[in-house]
Amino acid sequence: MSSLSLKGVGVSRGIAIGKVHLLQRNQLKVREYLIPASLIEAEIERFNQALATAREQLAAIRDNIPTNTPVDIVSFIDTHLLMMADKALAREPIEVIRKRGCNAEWALKLQRDALVGVFEAMDDAYLRTRKDDVDHVVNRIQRLLLNQSDRVTSDGSLEGCVVVADDLAPADTVTLQHEGVVAFVTEYGGPTSHTTIMARSLGIPAVVGVKNVLRYLRQGENLVVDGHNGVVIAGCDERCFNHYRERQTEERLQRAELNKFKELPAISQDGMVISLHANIELLEDMVALKRVAAKGVGLYRTEYLFMNNAELPDEEMQLNSYRMIVRALNGAPLTIRTLDLGADKALHPERRQESRGSVPTNPALGLRAIRLCLRDASLFKPQLRAILRVAAEGPVSMMIPMLASMQELHQTLELIAQVKAELRQEGKPFDDSIAIGGMIEIPAAALCADAFAKHLDFFSIGTNDLVQYTLAADRLDNSVNYLYQPTHPAVLRLISMTIKAGRKAGIPVSMCGEMAGESRYTRLLLGLGLRDFSMQPTMVPEVKRIVQESNVDELTKKVRRVLQLPSAVEVDALVDRLNGV
Ligand code: PEP
Ligand code: MG
Repeated sequence: MSSLSLKGVGVSRGIAIGKVHLLQRNQLKVREYLIPASLIEAEIERFNQALATAREQLAAIRDNIPTNTPVDIVSFIDTHLLMMADKALAREPIEVIRKRGCNAEWALKLQRDALVGVFEAMDDAYLRTRKDDVDHVVNRIQRLLLNQSDRVTSDGSLEGCVVVADDLAPADTVTLQHEGVVAFVTEYGGPTSHTTIMARSLGIPAVVGVKNVLRYLRQGENLVVDGHNGVVIAGCDERCFNHYRERQTEERLQRAELNKFKELPAISQDGMVISLHANIELLEDMVALKRVAAKGVGLYRTEYLFMNNAELPDEEMQLNSYRMIVRALNGAPLTIRTLDLGADKALHPERRQESRGSVPTNPALGLRAIRLCLRDASLFKPQLRAILRVAAEGPVSMMIPMLASMQELHQTLELIAQVKAELRQEGKPFDDSIAIGGMIEIPAAALCADAFAKHLDFFSIGTNDLVQYTLAADRLDNSVNYLYQPTHPAVLRLISMTIKAGRKAGIPVSMCGEMAGESRYTRLLLGLGLRDFSMQPTMVPEVKRIVQESNVDELTKKVRRVLQLPSAVEVDALVDRLNGV
């Protein structure tokens, strides 16, 4: 049998080998049929019954959630329960049944399409994926209307299986987490999908966005999941299996080996001390951070809190969330990034109208992050207050995303000064001398880093966006991912300029984009002068090992000519040589 290899996005690392367990629940066949006027009320009753049962099912899942379930999964289920009570899903389908004289499934489908249309038009990737929530909720009701059972088993039959699904609902992930699943593969979903969160918290590989995966794979066949490269392989022959089994064994040994260095400092052969910090989004990430003994948090993405609450979190809510992380860090530093929301995210619809006007044609270049925050002080100020206040309780610094111009920087600093004055007047404790840093993730900021450095206490290079903006290659668009090259000389020149500008101004320069956690680039970045890395916690041990093996002085000499190389091909060859490949 020939093998079949499918490509997706690896969102949780590692190699898994298991039997395919297909979950195909989104493919419900819903057809429209007309309901005679005399039976309309009965049809509405049928809809209400299905809705009530769906709610009961979900409430039962929520009430039986194991205590060690990540809180975000629990809050997703609560969100789904709220959605089921919302007018858009609970009442409007009834209006459709009445007006159109159609069956309940069809009315629900029409309502679903309308809601998903709204989500899909949103500029923000995170919110766009939240249309999945509508689908999960609608599917549960549809299944009941169509008398189709929920196929997620909980009888332990998933032991050793790779769950392959269109996408996983939070309710599924609760049932799946104790069943010995070895990996997840989904057709949809992205780095912020439930599948990703679940896989990361379970520490198992996941590949998402694998087109047509449900069509190509067969129930029960053996599958290799390579979460590093975002690849799944079916129909492997013995040689292929042996290769991956060896890699699995290597990984296990590596993990055990790396664990030995856990408590050792990240110091190079020639005595250079390197800081390895973690990127986090949730309080739960602290478990992973402690497991690898990262030295603190170099990037705390705060959007998550905003995206998972029906209401905008107020100052106290934000303060409490930050406080829990400060306490969990127990004296280790925390860098809180201010909101990096997209143009539409979480704003009140009326305010959205006021602040946005027309729908942006290119959301990545639109009103997002600091631009949005500066436009809407009522969104920004509570967060600034919360950060300033929590900074009085531990070593907290503040980081501003997406800075492009000096005006933005001045405006931000003025607003912070104003917020400080207000807190002072109110007698609320805060850290007056909090360090304020800027993310360098737009080429303009890198090119003007010398000017920015005069007004900031540190830089952090956000390569995820820097690569996207430098190369005009959408980081979310698979069709241009071949253009998304962190080793493009243009990107490296901007990184180098930023490091040099920071050094000249005497301010620390960190990197918190994914490149910082790619161990393949550790030597290159050390050679370019980077001394502070922030990454997903799981990447820390491997990067630390490379730091410990490296001679930074030698790397600096070897990397000197990298900026003169003409393309990523030559740079990649140099990187291979640095890595001894
Ligand atoms: C980046 O752009 O590199 C970054 C760290 O920020 P985010 O991925 O959240 O945009
Ligand atoms: Mg960014």
